[in-house]
Amino acid sequence: MTQITDDETLRLYLDEALDPQAMATIEKRLRQEPLLLQRLDEIRQSLFDHATHSLGMAWIEGRLTCPARSEWTKHFNGLLETPRSAYLKFHLEVILCPFCLANVTDLRQRQSRKVQSSSLADRSAQAAGWLKSDSIPAPD
Ligand SMILES: [Zn+2]
Repeated sequence: MTQITDDETLRLYLDEALDPQAMATIEKRLRQEPLLLQRLDEIRQSLFDHATHSLGMAWIEGRLTCPARSEWTKHFNGLLETPRSAYLKFHLEVILCPFCLANVTDLRQRQSRKVQSSSLADRSAQAAGWLKSDSIPAPD
């Protein structure tokens, strides 16, 4: 009995988001398993429908322009004016813009890495006794 491949793996396969070895494994199995191939076709179709639908919504909404990365950063830091901020929220949560979702995910990961590394730097500085003195300017 072969291992069951879940829909998520097939979706990643369609996005070519798997590593080359996993891609090759799926390709090989698709040639041998008609049911898996059928499932892949169903997923491909549903993704296509979803994409068409999302694009339609974006056109109705009339604004396809994606906010810049710097704007997303301001948005999450609460630095944008309310109407613009509301639009960004709409763009992300209602339109589900795939580009901005990817962008925002990336920004959040960077943000959390930055917090981790800066707190680590603070601890090292503390250990070295740097933070006790006001006379040493902070490195910038
Ligand atoms: Zn966008």
